[in-house]
Amino acid sequence: MTDDAGLTQMALGEDYADIRDGVRKVCAGYPMEYWREKDEISEYPHEFVDAMTEAGYLGALIPEEFGGAGLPVRAGAVILEEIHASGCSAAACHAQMYIMGTLLRHGSEAQKQAYLPGIASGEIRLQAFGVTEPTTGTDTTQLKTRAVRQGDHFVVNGQKIWTSRAKQSDLMLLLARTTPVDEVAKRTDGLSTIIVDLRDAVGNGLEIQGIPAMVNHNTNQVFFDDLKVPVENLIGEEGKGFRYILDGMNAERVLVASEAIGDGRWFTEKAVAYANEREVFGGPIGANQGIQFPIAKAYAQIQAAELMVRKAAALFDAGQPCGSEANMAKMLASEAVWEAAEACMQTYGGFAFAKEYDIERKWRECRLFRTAPISTNLILAFVAQHVLGMPRSY
Ligand SMILES: Cc1cc2nc3c(=O)[nH]c(=O)nc-3n(C[C@H](O)[C@H](O)[C@H](O)COP(=O)(O)OP(=O)(O)OC[C@H]3O[C@@H](n4cnc5c(N)ncnc54)[C@H](O)[C@@H]3O)c2cc1C
Repeated sequence: MTDDAGLTQMALGEDYADIRDGVRKVCAGYPMEYWREKDEISEYPHEFVDAMTEAGYLGALIPEEFGGAGLPVRAGAVILEEIHASGCSAAACHAQMYIMGTLLRHGSEAQKQAYLPGIASGEIRLQAFGVTEPTTGTDTTQLKTRAVRQGDHFVVNGQKIWTSRAKQSDLMLLLARTTPVDEVAKRTDGLSTIIVDLRDAVGNGLEIQGIPAMVNHNTNQVFFDDLKVPVENLIGEEGKGFRYILDGMNAERVLVASEAIGDGRWFTEKAVAYANEREVFGGPIGANQGIQFPIAKAYAQIQAAELMVRKAAALFDAGQPCGSEANMAKMLASEAVWEAAEACMQTYGGFAFAKEYDIERKWRECRLFRTAPISTNLILAFVAQHVLGMPRSY
């Protein structure tokens, strides 16, 4: 929201109280045992994702004309924060909220009509995002997957890694090189975004292999071997895909940061409750500054990070530039939740390691925020170069 003086406004306190309440009610049906079991057997939380879809939360950001709720990014952030503060995890479904942004902003009318209503209703899942590759990692412009135009098709060859939820998605948003890097003026040119219909592709030039990982994130390697994709699945202009992906990343950063804030609230609540209740040496462990200071410090860091999340969302929703705020929000929230997770682990002592308390699982899960979707170092490099004007370091 922007006021008469042109200043961006942001709400403090429990904004979107109805949404928070509604999300908490859905989450109450998915207690800790549910998540513990899913983690134990590395299974996708279908029931939870279906419940969130049916309640309309995953289509929150899709405009009403396409069957969504047409809400701002801040509302999406509130939904994800509450899921995590309730002890649940949105990792299995959060991408459904933001991947469609590229389609919404840059897709043709026909593509939007073909996909967005189905995504809003939950009939179609677009929650696989094929960017990262094994040999090039964060250096996205050097990715090697090629999409070569042959008549009315692209022929795709290459490999992606860490493509989360590919087995639980109908569509994948793929970033592939359509013009070789030595034939473009800028290395960010020549990359294109293409929708791959996984329902047709699997077994016909596309193979998905799960990666056993530290967290239950349903993540995969994806192999492309002469996969044919119709040219009409190209989003926007050929060669401009990198820009399309970049402008969707601010929303992604804000949403992921909100999950970290939600986890931070969960860890703090758990740590405080245990610190007050556990008695050794004749009194509650929380009476010791060695126990209470780390919790208080993490709480302060979460509060500070949360302000940056709100600021980034407010700027985003007001249509203002927010690249630095969105990146800083994600970095600060991921560092703050890690402090909270560590404080909680330490407060629980040996019991933190017992699976039935869920601390070790949430501790493993929240560590990912410092690495993906972008690592802390790359955000610091962005701030140093683009905000502070220092030389490019890489
Ligand atoms: C569970 C999980 C789910 C994921 N889901 C997806 C997904 O759905 N889709 C997708 O496309 N990707 C996904 N990723 C990939 C994720 O975005 C990358 O792992 C992350 O961006 C880092 O890339 P990398 O692993 O190749 O690390 P690298 O690029 O190899 O970097 C390794 C380390 O070096 C540091 N480093 C690299 N370059 C520099 C530099 N110039 N300056 C300072 N430090 C540097 C990095 O910060 C990092 O700490 C996922 C990853 C995980 C673990």
